[in-house]
Amino acid sequence: MFDVAIVGAGPAGAHAAIGCARKGLKVALIEKRHDVSKITRYCSEHLILDENYNGDTLIVEPGLPPQGPNSIVPYNKKNKIRSSRFGWEIEYHGPLCPCLDKYYYSADLSHNAHFSWPPFRPLAWKYDKGGLVQQLLDQALALGIEYMPGTTCYEARDSRNGEGVYLKCVSAGKRFVVRAKKLLGADGASAQIAQSLGMNADRMYFTHAPVVALYMSGVKDYNPNHWVGYWGLCYGSHYAPLIGTGPHEHFDWADLIVIGNDKQRPLELFEYFTKKSPVAWKFADAKVETMHSCTTKAFAPLKQPCSGNCLMIGDAAAFVEVQAQGALNCGWCAADAVAQELDGKPGFEEYTKTWLETFEFNDDGMMQVTTGYALIPYYTDEQVTYLFSLLDGVTLNGSWSQYQSPRLIWGEIHKHDERIQKERPDIWEKLQKQQARTLGS
Ligand SMILES: Cc1cc2nc3c(=O)[nH]c(=O)nc-3n(C[C@H](O)[C@H](O)[C@H](O)COP(=O)(O)OP(=O)(O)OC[C@H]3O[C@@H](n4cnc5c(N)ncnc54)[C@H](O)[C@@H]3O)c2cc1C
Repeated sequence: MFDVAIVGAGPAGAHAAIGCARKGLKVALIEKRHDVSKITRYCSEHLILDENYNGDTLIVEPGLPPQGPNSIVPYNKKNKIRSSRFGWEIEYHGPLCPCLDKYYYSADLSHNAHFSWPPFRPLAWKYDKGGLVQQLLDQALALGIEYMPGTTCYEARDSRNGEGVYLKCVSAGKRFVVRAKKLLGADGASAQIAQSLGMNADRMYFTHAPVVALYMSGVKDYNPNHWVGYWGLCYGSHYAPLIGTGPHEHFDWADLIVIGNDKQRPLELFEYFTKKSPVAWKFADAKVETMHSCTTKAFAPLKQPCSGNCLMIGDAAAFVEVQAQGALNCGWCAADAVAQELDGKPGFEEYTKTWLETFEFNDDGMMQVTTGYALIPYYTDEQVTYLFSLLDGVTLNGSWSQYQSPRLIWGEIHKHDERIQKERPDIWEKLQKQQARTLGS
């Protein structure tokens, strides 16, 4: 009987394992992958520096000064990643590449929304997420946790009669049961543990999107310090194709991220974007080096992430995703919660309070941002170009957040309401209709 079983050794589960082990708990960490240093579910791997993003501000202190024309911080053992709200600090040994400017282009490439801070204040750092998770795991192992790699938990049961939780697992074809007093479900967006426990029953399902990311060499005009999105149907997709920074071992490759849907397969969109779109010229001599994929699913978040002896943390309880720092925070707080519960205190209740007030997707109004602020295909390419032309000469604050960035764009556009009404009643009418939706309605 373990004090706590944690399913999933992503950033949430691995950080929770460290926290629980430091409190002297007997921890089982169950992970279906054999090697956590290799990311199998695509992630663009940026440490996001927005202030008060997901209820916290991440601080990254490079251990060596940035070097070379792209200000890359090489491998070193002195990089520090800190949470300013929750107080944890992690040493990160991998390299870092700063993202200094974010551009969203319209169909007409002469207009864009530009996000940036004053010189050399990054919006985010591209990092090696697999390396970081491996470091966390190594730390947890050194603290004496029992690690079960290559093991899938396929069913969870909570006895609620004092006998704790039963986890049915399979590893290399062998089935066995892990028993623990408490369970942390940190199995990521697929949320199978929550599903098995019946906790997903009331979660509204919105949509899913298949994503393909291609790390490419030889992309013209590529800048590792930029994050660029292309908004318009002329680029082939309802979701903006994005070009970000290459992987930690090859910051010189571009990361082309294409988001599809049931009708638009990502690889077909990739073909269109790189061969027929207004930026096809960038890819004339480019080569696909590696390709990765994932599916993002949008479920309403778990407003009550705990049930009996079980607590769901990180992406397992989220609307789409909590991001790595959100996952690290969830893991950190969950360790406290488990220790309190084992001490007879309402730790899961406390965790739930923090969860609800920390992540803004738990606020019903967030749907206004995700649907009410959408640009394509609601507006035509020409209309998006007009709206972006209102941002000419403006530098928006260096926000990365998928919630804050559209707010900043629309905040700037709304400064021109009178002009839009006069010049573009067609856009004004659409805008009025669009920006009044909420999750409840
Ligand atoms: C396209 C895309 C881009 C992203 N870009 C960024 C970014 O730039 N920056 C950022 O911070 N975040 C980004 N994210 C989000 C980030 O990847 C997640 O929010 C974060 O990894 C969540 O951490 P987690 O520990 O909750 O889950 P995960 O990282 O998903 O970890 C879950 C773990 O559980 C294991 N597991 C799953 N099921 C089982 C099972 N049944 N039994 C045993 N083990 C199991 C998995 O193998 C995995 O190791 C991105 C996500 C997507 C989809």
